[in-house]
Amino acid sequence: MRRSPLDAWIASLVAADSAGDPSAAFDRAALERYQLRQLRKTLRLARTHSAFYRRHLAGAPEELRSLEDLQSLPLTTADDIRANPLGLVCVSQDEINRVVTLDSSGTTGSPKRVYFTRADQALTVDFFEAGMSVFTAAGDRVLILLPVERPGSVGDLLATAMENLGAIPIRYGPVRDPAEALRVAADEGATVAVGVPTHLLRMARHGLEPLPLPRLHSVLLSTDHVPAAIVNAIETAWPCRVYNHYGTTEMGLGGGVDCEARRGYHLREADLLFEVVDPANGRPVMDGERGEVVFTTLTRTGMPVIRYRTGDLGRWLPDPCPCGSELRTLSHITTRVAGQFALGPGATLTQVDLDEAVFAVDGVLDFAARVTRPGAAAELQIRVQVAPLRPLPAAHDDIALALHAIPAIVRAASSGDLDSIDVIVATDRVSEPTLAKRSIAVDAQ
Ligand SMILES: [Zn+2]
Repeated sequence: MRRSPLDAWIASLVAADSAGDPSAAFDRAALERYQLRQLRKTLRLARTHSAFYRRHLAGAPEELRSLEDLQSLPLTTADDIRANPLGLVCVSQDEINRVVTLDSSGTTGSPKRVYFTRADQALTVDFFEAGMSVFTAAGDRVLILLPVERPGSVGDLLATAMENLGAIPIRYGPVRDPAEALRVAADEGATVAVGVPTHLLRMARHGLEPLPLPRLHSVLLSTDHVPAAIVNAIETAWPCRVYNHYGTTEMGLGGGVDCEARRGYHLREADLLFEVVDPANGRPVMDGERGEVVFTTLTRTGMPVIRYRTGDLGRWLPDPCPCGSELRTLSHITTRVAGQFALGPGATLTQVDLDEAVFAVDGVLDFAARVTRPGAAAELQIRVQVAPLRPLPAAHDDIALALHAIPAIVRAASSGDLDSIDVIVATDRVSEPTLAKRSIAVDAQ
């Protein structure tokens, strides 16, 4: 098994930064010394240039003696960014090269804006190049099924990274019509594809007209958690290997990626310092224990964030990675802190429970779940989009059967906390692509 190429990339950044002995071997200790130097720089920048952090860090120690001292700093939340995004910006407006506006949910109702300089974006391009080289080499033809149109969009930065790697980017965009996307994959001879899990699933389960099998050897899924059932469906349809990427806009679009072991992400540790903390008190949890993923930027200048709460639940894998990497491994993210719904006592339903059950049913392309509570008991409604060739009554019965095998549903149904499950199936050919993270909708009554 090949060691993650992130090691060599991060080692070169650490060596370039260490004034003392640039030829010293790259190991965990050298990386952590580098992280502490970068962390101090970031804190100085934030304290002197960000109005928000000047206030937010007022009670915190002036200088950190160790990485552990980071735990004494307060967390930063999505609402902190929403309340006044410019308060976090550390450069003048004309140094900002790209602004990303995100959802306007949350308690303040205002949108979240994230600002990047040209240099911030170049760091992301470098990460994309190193991360993609886990399974991409010069000469590969990379089908980009993410937004590509705007300069600085995730697909645009990925295309630049692929050119730097000597690969050929095929700029496509999110998948609306799976048959057309498959035709482009075949015509362009794509060997690697990068996209949203359900978009790739639509292509893999298309089956309507005989289209040549894509020559993909690797698929990278990004933007949302990746159900094992979707990985299985894609690897069954095409002779390829599926990899996971973890990244959010606040991370600078890229955060971590599987190595060949595919057991979790190695992270962009020269640019981002990750922690896994107890969501209740912000204290780090033990390795192997699940908690909220929190990160601090180490090299960003436009809008650094310090101990930013992602809302994602993950855990450090305590064993060394079989690929031999010096980097830590973060478990695949499947659940968000807010992405769980208690149907009743001891019966917490998560999106990932539903995903693994429903996507495992042959022909399912996508679905949306909604929970209502019109009386004392909850009702669950699942609207499912099914591939055109799959007979709807059979799909309906298989989905209902799969749902009734989910432990939280079994428990809530037997205790009377779940009153009914309504499964609505419809055939889907073409649909507006969504990039939103999938979650259970809850109607408060
Ligand atoms: Zn590894």
